[in-house]
Order: sequence, then structure tokens, then C-alpha cells
Amino acid sequence: MEEKTFRNYNAPDVSAAVKEHYRKMRKNQTLDYVQNMHKKYLKFDKPMGLWEAMRHLNDLVDVSDPDLDLPNVQHLIQSAEAIRAEDRPDWMQLTGLIHDLGKVMFLWGSDEDGTSQAEQWGMVGDVFVVGCKLPDTCVYPEFNELNADMQNEVYNTTTGIYEKGCGIDNVDLAWGHDEYLYQVLNNHEDNKLPEEAMVMIRYHSFYPWHTGGSYSELLNDKDEEYLNEEYLRIIRDFNKYDLYSKSQKIYDLEEVLDYYQPIAEKYLGSGPIYW
Ligand code: FE
Ligand code: FE
Repeated sequence: MEEKTFRNYNAPDVSAAVKEHYRKMRKNQTLDYVQNMHKKYLKFDKPMGLWEAMRHLNDLVDVSDPDLDLPNVQHLIQSAEAIRAEDRPDWMQLTGLIHDLGKVMFLWGSDEDGTSQAEQWGMVGDVFVVGCKLPDTCVYPEFNELNADMQNEVYNTTTGIYEKGCGIDNVDLAWGHDEYLYQVLNNHEDNKLPEEAMVMIRYHSFYPWHTGGSYSELLNDKDEEYLNEEYLRIIRDFNKYDLYSKSQKIYDLEEVLDYYQPIAEKYLGSGPIYW
């Protein structure tokens, strides 16, 4: 993979839509909003097969991505194929293929929740911790002050509502496709994906932490240090494929399906997944 420049949010050709997306996301993703979304979207009452979900992502272009304007299913195949090209384990190839599948929430989402085709601020983009102070490592940190929680003195501190060193698995992140897919798979009876895959899925958009180095006081207690380092290693390993595989190469899902189908069955079974 060629490592050219990605994620330059201040490049002249980054569309106004990307910036506007982040403005709305920062403004609207409060602790209260995130808790409401958990209640609303984590019901696991909608059965849908993996390939059907993949096909639906033919209809969605991620507005937060400054590097790619293809349907999301193309990004998923590109990621998986990049992992496969380097002979990484089959479960990791499958993780590449499905890591953004939580975006299918647009099928039952709404403009009001930011989970629709038109309004994606509750579905895609870099995430941050809610219930504590927003760090300057967020993209467009100038939007941090728009978040109502930042006027709340209980929330507006380094640890906010959390205990120091509580660990990454115990904080609430901004609502989006990562957490959604993680919870859906966690609830899926036939899920045999290894722990590493689940970490890649859950935290891949948590840039202020895995790339920005923020939240150390919250996530990096002595007891958690090993776990934290281990998680970082896993995420960064995955991240290069998520990022540097982006290209204009178009794949046909039906053609790559033959290769991935047995791997998907091995780790996720053959029945539907409950969304
Ligand atoms: Fe993603
Ligand atoms: Fe991705």
C-alpha cells in the first residue's frame, strides 16, 4: 500500500460538507443524546443477513470522509482485499470487510437522530468520549464549544462523570457505526470473532485517543495500562488498512463473495444477524 496523505481536513479540496458534518456532530453528540441512541438503536429486533447488509451499503456514501466518495461497500471490499493481499489472518480479512457495516443503521435511521442518508452526524466521523471535556485533538477543535455539555461543570473536566483510570471499555463514546456494529455482534449468538476483531470494530473511529493521544488520565490507569497498550497496537495495525487502502478501484461484491463467504460462515454462522 502506498502511504500518501490522508485525513487532511484543511486541504483546499475538502468539501464544506465534511466540515459542516463535524460541526453538527460536535454540537449534537451530548451524553444525553448518546444514552437515548443506545435505548433506541440497541434493540436487536431486525434480522438481516450479512450480504444483504453489504448490498445496502451500495447506497451510502460517507459524508465525513475527505478521502473517498465511493459507495461504502467499495471501502469495505478495498480494506478487506488490502488485508488479504498481505496474507493477514482470515478473521482480520473479514473484519476489514465488515468493520463499517454498522452504517446500515441509515435504513431505519432519521434526519433528527443524524442517522440518515442526508444527516450522518450520528453515524459516521471520528468519535470522542461524552460526559467529559472534549480534547483539542478532535478534528476542527473550534467546534468543541458548541457542545452543550461543555457548559456543564460536571461534564466539563478531564474525567467528567467517570473515575480516573476507569478504562476504555467503561466510557460512552459518541454514537456511531462502530459502537452499533460492536453491540450487534456482541449480541450475535454465533459470533466467533476473536477479541482483537471486536476491538478493531469498536474503536477504529476513536482518533482523539488512538492517534491524538488524548484521554490518558481517563483510560490509562496502572491496572489498565497493559490493556490500553494492547488495544492501541491492535487498532493501529488495523487502521493502516482502513486508511491507506482507499482508492478509486471498483470491486464487484458478487465476485469477491465466493472468497469471503466461507470465512464469514466460520466466524458468524450462516443465519441472520439481529440489528
Ligand atoms: Fe469506520
Ligand atoms: Fe472504514
